[in-house]
Formats: sequence, C-alpha cells, structure tokens
Amino acid sequence: MLVYPKQYFEKISDITYEFLKENHIQALILDVDNTLIDLDKNIPKETIQWCQEIKKKGIVCCILSNSNKKQKVEMVAKTLELPFFYFGAKPLKKGFNKAIQEIQRENKQITNKNIAAVGDQIFTDIIGANRLHLYPILVRPIAEKDIWITRLKRPLEKYLIRKWRAKQKKGK
Ligand SMILES: [Mg+2]
Repeated sequence: MLVYPKQYFEKISDITYEFLKENHIQALILDVDNTLIDLDKNIPKETIQWCQEIKKKGIVCCILSNSNKKQKVEMVAKTLELPFFYFGAKPLKKGFNKAIQEIQRENKQITNKNIAAVGDQIFTDIIGANRLHLYPILVRPIAEKDIWITRLKRPLEKYLIRKWRAKQKKGK
C-alpha cells in the first residue's frame, strides 16, 4: 500500500544506526518541516547530535523539503551540514530523484532500496518514498501546530496510521 510506512518512530533521533544497518539502509532523505524543525524553525539539540553521529557512521544524508522558503531550508541544511533541495514537490518523483542523484554522487553503490525517506506526512513523504521504492519511515510531527493545508490532512493520516499499526500487530 502506497500510504503505509515501513516503520514509525516517535522522533527522528530514535532512528538508530543499528536499525538502519539491519535494514540495509545506507542513506537518508530527510524532510524539514515538523521532521527536523518545528514551526518556529527550531532544530531540537538531540536532532543535531543524531545527525552528526549518523553521518560519522557513514550514513549519507540529504534534505528534501516541499517548502518554497529557500532561506529556511538552507538554514537547516547549514546547521546539519547537509546538501539540500527545497520546493521538492513530494510525492512527485522529480525532487526525490535529485536527492537520490546527490546521494549517489557521494556513493555510487547506493541504490533506491538502500535509501530511506524520513518524514512526518503520509501524503508527501511516505507516498513519494513508496513510489520510488525507497524505505519509507514515518515520524511523529515535532509540533502539533501545523499550517492549515497540513492540518486538513491530519485526521486521515491518523486514521491510516492506526490502521497500519493494527495490521502490524496482527502480523506479529
Ligand atoms: Mg514535514
């Protein structure tokens, strides 16, 4: 199902290197709004530490944001010392492909199945990841506060997450 993640984390810094290794993930495409920063543009300290550690261990990271605010995305990218793309038009493939190319510039051996896309929204991050056969990881949005367009999608997202979790439980 296009709308389902493969894994869910409460926050991005809960994604461990061990988890990535177990699932053969060598690279991450990271969403910005409500994944790396809250609506006030704050990056949690633990996220900065997490990113440094994961990079040190050889995980290639790239930012892909749907935001059209270049300055904001650039600020996050600079803080985390990551390449970035903004105005990414997720779930369309174009932006993802740019990020994938950037990752492959770093390491040619990495293919789509070794890349996880991490984000807080099913209709952009998760559907996009599934369309490109990336490993989709859903995280809980940092802040409950959302811009109006996102707010409209949240109830359906919550419903889908509940359904997915019920399915996971059954499978075990
Ligand atoms: Mg987001």
